[in-house]
Amino acid sequence: VIAIERLSVHFAAKVVLKDVSLSVFPGELIIIVGHSGSGKSTLLRAINRLNECSPDCCTKGTIRVRFDGMSGDIYAGSISPNELRRRVGMVFQTPAILPFSIEKNITMPLKVTLGLRGQALSEHTEWALREASLWDEVKERLRDDASTLSGGQQQRLCLARTLALQPQALLLDEPTASLDFRAANRIEQLLLRLKKHYCIVAVSHSLGQAKRLADRLFILREGRIAQEMDRQALQDETMFRRLIEEAF
Ligand code: ATP
Ligand code: MG
Repeated sequence: VIAIERLSVHFAAKVVLKDVSLSVFPGELIIIVGHSGSGKSTLLRAINRLNECSPDCCTKGTIRVRFDGMSGDIYAGSISPNELRRRVGMVFQTPAILPFSIEKNITMPLKVTLGLRGQALSEHTEWALREASLWDEVKERLRDDASTLSGGQQQRLCLARTLALQPQALLLDEPTASLDFRAANRIEQLLLRLKKHYCIVAVSHSLGQAKRLADRLFILREGRIAQEMDRQALQDETMFRRLIEEAF
């Protein structure tokens, strides 16, 4: 479970998030939409404590997590950022592939973080690539440079790398941005399968995608939650349109 309560984030005098409260439960996929600059990425980064990399950042409110072997307020000091980021995996808006082979993109973090070697390492790598629906496309070319993959494959490689570390929650920043219909559709099917096992928070620019995937939808406007919709509101076209118009 991730429970965000009255989260506000400022960069110097600029207020980017204001009083944001939301919770995500295991087996749930929630989607955040909003105009460019409304604070979506900042919200995801707050859950992974990445905003603090900016020295002028100030975060207020609480974000509590409860997973196997970890619980508490992530800003209170009892949970280390590295431990947090292992449990709550993030995939960034632009695929952050490492300048190595496809295989090494997965094995390197696995060696460092889980200390896997030899057979266990290759088995786990295959598992992660399968989990991200990428194995069949790359099994013959694991030694190729990761930059030779297509955009959609790179997205799935980043997802595989995150899943390899066995997180309990996933933060996905526009997982299908810049993908063609087919590649986006594959990722959507994948997310529907994965959500059974994780808490997922995804940012999207597509209301259609939100309708297809989300258990709940949150609309951010200028750093505040302007609207929240549950599955029922998402499925009811008339209600959906009315709530969207109200929020934007
Ligand atoms: P997009 O849809 O374009 O990705 P977004 O909703 O993800 O937009 P954010 O990246 O969260 O938007 O940014 C929200 C606002 O916060 C923007 O005005 C941005 O300039 C500002 N911002 C984000 N990070 C910082 C930072 N480190 N320092 C100063 N301002 C920042
Ligand atoms: Mg963003």
